Amino acid sequence: MSDPIRIGLVGIGKIARDQHVPVLRASPRFTLVASASRHGRVEGLPGHTSLEDMLAAETIDAVALCQPPQVRFAAARTALLAGKHVLLEKPPGATLAEVEILRAVARDQGVTLFASWHSRHAAGVAPARAWCDGKTLRRVAITWKEDVRYWHPGQDWIWQAGGMGVFDPGINALSIATAILPPFFLTDGTLEVPANRAAPIAADLTFADAAGTPIHAVFDWRQTGPQTWDIVIETDAGRAVLSEGGSMLTIDGAAQPLPPEAEYRGLYDHFADLVAAGESDVDVAPLRHVADAFLRATRREVEAFDD
Ligand code: NAP
Repeated sequence: MSDPIRIGLVGIGKIARDQHVPVLRASPRFTLVASASRHGRVEGLPGHTSLEDMLAAETIDAVALCQPPQVRFAAARTALLAGKHVLLEKPPGATLAEVEILRAVARDQGVTLFASWHSRHAAGVAPARAWCDGKTLRRVAITWKEDVRYWHPGQDWIWQAGGMGVFDPGINALSIATAILPPFFLTDGTLEVPANRAAPIAADLTFADAAGTPIHAVFDWRQTGPQTWDIVIETDAGRAVLSEGGSMLTIDGAAQPLPPEAEYRGLYDHFADLVAAGESDVDVAPLRHVADAFLRATRREVEAFDD
């Protein structure tokens, strides 16, 4: 087995602490060397206040970028130009065009760029894709409803232009749907935008595949009580329900045995495989659907939202 990949973590906030740090520390394929973040740091490691300082001071092969999408491009470009492999948290950027530039820079530099989608590594996703294979879709219903006050307290960036609002979680549903369904496109939709915010708090989206199969998605950040992250797939040969964000799968009413949750372990294993193979993985399909929603859906102003 090759030497562990020496990696630096950038943007020490909620997801860096919850997932990246523990998963990297437990992985035999990575050595977590240092962090770069204006305020945050990782206990026991050198903490730099900028990516540039970290690149100058540390010997690293790769960086994982966990900042908000609006500020990810400049950091990703700097790291790629320094010859580092780069993992982008989801969504890979604030626009599609910037991700294409990063793809080209990575190719020119001969390094790996991985636009990660953690939900694709949920335990039920690969079995759901295998189950769909060869069946004729009849209808798909995606319901992603959660309480923004619980999951995103004090995160101002998420409400600003480029932060994507309810698409921040909704893009996880789209990352699963684009992994298991045939290509589809938006035909109609509504975005509900609070009067005091730049980004939507809810979205109701109607998609269709090339055969006209309806795919309906409802994203809502105003859900209190039980949270819902479900995808229901009806076909000519049965019905599959992916729930709990893809970590549970029921087929025709029968719960399928699945391994325990290990999304970020799977994500980092894939990154290590890409680095070893000298490849990149940059699938912008989920982000394209979000961009299309901003292009094609009707915006409706709703009551102001305060934390
Ligand atoms: P967060 O808690 O706000 O952390 C992001 C960190 O990035 C901040 O703590 C901040 O650290 C740094 N940062 C750099 N420039 C910033 C800027 N202009 N504004 C705000 N922060 C800035 O966010 P998060 O929840 O970890 O999410 C980060 C990314 O991970 C997002 O793309 C999100 O979609 C994705 N993600 C989040 C979750 C989740 O459960 N929260 C799950 C999966 C993926 P410094 O102040 O120290 O620089």
